[in-house]
Amino acid sequence: AGGIDNALLDGLNPQQREAVTYRGQSLLIVAGAGSGKTSVLTRRIAGLLQTREAWPSQILAITFTNKAAAEMRERVKSLVGDAAEGMWISTFHSACTRILRRQAESMGMKQSFTIYDTADQRALLKRIIKELGADTVGFTPGGASSRISKLKNELTDIDAFARSVNMDDPKEAGFVEIFKRYTSALRRANALDFDDIIAETVYLFRAFPDVAALYQRRFRHVLVDEYQDTNHAQYALIREFVRAVAPHNVPADTRMQLDPSGGIPGASLTVVGDSDQSIYAFRGADIRNITEFERDFPNSKVILLEQNYRSTQNILDAANAVISNNFDRKAKNLFTVVGAGEKIIGFTGYSGHDEAQFVADEIESLRSAGGSLNDVAIFVRTNSQTRPLEEIFIRSAIPYRIPGGTKFYERAEIKDAMAYLIQVANPDDDLALRRIMNVPKRGIGPATEAAMQAHANRIGTPLREVLADAGQLGLGPKVTAAIVELGTILDDAGRVATTAAPHDILTDILNRTGYHKALKSSGDAQDEARAENLEELVSQTKEFTTVNPEGSLIDFLTGVALFAAADEIDDEDGSVSIMTLHTAKGLEYDAVFLTGVEEDLLPHRMSANEPGGLQEERRLFYVGITRARKRLYISLATSRASFGEVNVAMPSRYLQEIPADLIEWKQSGGSGGFRPGGRALNARGPAMRSGYSRDELPPAPPRVKTEWTSAVTGLVRDNGDMTLEAGDRIRHTDFGEGRVTAVTGEGTKRVAEVQFDIAGRKRLLIKIAPIEKL
Ligand code: ATP
Ligand code: MG
Repeated sequence: AGGIDNALLDGLNPQQREAVTYRGQSLLIVAGAGSGKTSVLTRRIAGLLQTREAWPSQILAITFTNKAAAEMRERVKSLVGDAAEGMWISTFHSACTRILRRQAESMGMKQSFTIYDTADQRALLKRIIKELGADTVGFTPGGASSRISKLKNELTDIDAFARSVNMDDPKEAGFVEIFKRYTSALRRANALDFDDIIAETVYLFRAFPDVAALYQRRFRHVLVDEYQDTNHAQYALIREFVRAVAPHNVPADTRMQLDPSGGIPGASLTVVGDSDQSIYAFRGADIRNITEFERDFPNSKVILLEQNYRSTQNILDAANAVISNNFDRKAKNLFTVVGAGEKIIGFTGYSGHDEAQFVADEIESLRSAGGSLNDVAIFVRTNSQTRPLEEIFIRSAIPYRIPGGTKFYERAEIKDAMAYLIQVANPDDDLALRRIMNVPKRGIGPATEAAMQAHANRIGTPLREVLADAGQLGLGPKVTAAIVELGTILDDAGRVATTAAPHDILTDILNRTGYHKALKSSGDAQDEARAENLEELVSQTKEFTTVNPEGSLIDFLTGVALFAAADEIDDEDGSVSIMTLHTAKGLEYDAVFLTGVEEDLLPHRMSANEPGGLQEERRLFYVGITRARKRLYISLATSRASFGEVNVAMPSRYLQEIPADLIEWKQSGGSGGFRPGGRALNARGPAMRSGYSRDELPPAPPRVKTEWTSAVTGLVRDNGDMTLEAGDRIRHTDFGEGRVTAVTGEGTKRVAEVQFDIAGRKRLLIKIAPIEKL
């Protein structure tokens, strides 16, 4: 790749340079934290564009969060300018949702399918478990959902699963029944859960090789960040993306390089990762994806990066020392040239409160030394640790934010409003309809709802269709009128669902149902706050349209459904960030506080029951340490309150893995603080207890707000004199390749009708459309 501009390679070390310029079928970049993996991936994309080896629409880059995707897009743009328009840089879920919406028909679904989040999934499972009376034998929605999720991540479908279990075991048979009902309820509701989004894309590609071929021809370069955290379904998906295209799926007039058989060779694949940072095993992430890459993709090239550009040597030494206690790993040693730097500061408080006070005091001194609060992060293992921190920060006037902690889209009133929008877009979604049936109160009680449901079951339709026929149910006139009115509001909104802006639809619904007004005028202060939240939602829909003028209601709903905790992190608002270690992945801060470094928290007590759990917790600790650029604080307390009880806390076993001379311990101002390293550290922690919900382990489940799909901005261009006629093949930056079916109009108003291979039929103004003739 001699054509790469030197500026793009400037300052890179030889291994990084090779990672940017290597050209071959598959490339694995394995390296420790902060060694430039993400940077290299970004420059690699820029290089492909700059040398014109790839057209933007031929690039598919997968990141772990929408925020990381947005950053990568910005970085590539700053390196190569507008030539970056039209790339797919997104999460697995966003990319798959785009594909599934386009191909919904092949899967026998409607394009408007709903995406169920964890809460929706549990609500549905709760209903099913109750229906079956399965709660009496100990099935919980949470238990069932994690088992279902695991199966989907392993690409085990319901039929294969049913064949594999012992149906004489009532518990197993019960689970199969729950899984079956859950699957068919999703189907009927025209809905997919999070795990389906990936799995269904894999199934789609496998069942329809011609559909798969569209994407295989389009995406010639597939790049994946944080590869160590991919699960089996994601791995299978990547394999599908880079599969060679068979000759019969190659259009006669393609300009692509064919292999000797007349097919198209598979796309090039670049993955970057660090097995030491694999922290999602509980969601099915499989570290073997990285350790067996060379076997999975023969003739692949492996590049190791060893220089760390993020942290000081002291921080790195601590990280290296800790992670070297994991067995079964390839030894690697990170080094840096920036020097030893400050020592790690350790602190033991006598309570979580005391610990929080220490954090606040240190932040104060960082601030008075001129540091920006944006460069400070406080990491916790579980969300329950944030409360004492918040209390002290509020008292000390330290502005803070908790990415993933605000849960705006999980608030009941927001879920209600969203359920209206979902029902408008997807009338098959019974779950959404049941949610709003009596919100605001319109006299439809459980008995009425049950009668409606029974009627729907009898005639075999979604609940929504019963609304208009309410007259046949023999209900009282008042409630009948209320039901019919609800149906009318939804129908009216539905008629404009594909054309109107989301915020007009929402405003109209809030006005006509009187929901906003009911909250506003209830006289209850909490309702007042709820009404304000609805107003905030209206503003967000408005904002969506500003950013994305063409965005439909479905686009809005998709964005909300796929928004994740880490996406809320906004670096520039002058506040410190409090986040879980899981959310911290891939990020970096000048100063990092690792709090609650205690037995039962880190390692978390749940981990003792999981195979490999203690090693995974150590990796989590390693991820935390390696986020710090200059200063690292490690703190713990000797007692900690949880669930209303105060328990004795012991220092984490991982603490003694850090060489003593790297840490300088500070004493608590009060009495009772003690310095780990003495006898206390060698005492065993309290016996591991179970009984905690699995929820505590993962970070907040992916949620809401939006990666607004990029508006087609178009480059400043003038194709005024491009000769185009029916039959020509063209390439569009956003829509990919397609065939011109007609050209109409004259001069500057010439319009091409194009049948795109993937994006379908579009009309383009030739003069300004970002197209090139093939
Ligand atoms: P993680 O494992 O945490 O995801 P990473 O390997 O992806 O880390 P990056 O985030 O790409 O590492 O890089 C870490 C830091 O080092 C960033 O601030 C990046 O800008 C900087 N960096 C990377 N390579 C170089 C280089 N050659 N010269 C100077 N700075 C660099
Ligand atoms: Mg990275």
